[in-house]
Amino acid sequence: MQDTVEIFCPYCGEPNEIFIDYSGGNPQSYEEDCQICCQPWEVRVELMENQANVTVSKSNE
Ligand SMILES: [Zn+2]
Repeated sequence: MQDTVEIFCPYCGEPNEIFIDYSGGNPQSYEEDCQICCQPWEVRVELMENQANVTVSKSNE
């Protein structure tokens, strides 16, 4: 089971790594800022049996 998932920023399109907290409940949603352009994301994490399904969207829409 991997601890990080690569996603692409919805603002700048750059790849970022999201750290998955497997003890944080399921599903999870929280806000995080892009490591490249510092825009706020709405991050949603769904934990599957062997993987995490991560989606990010613009949090101000
Ligand atoms: Zn960005």
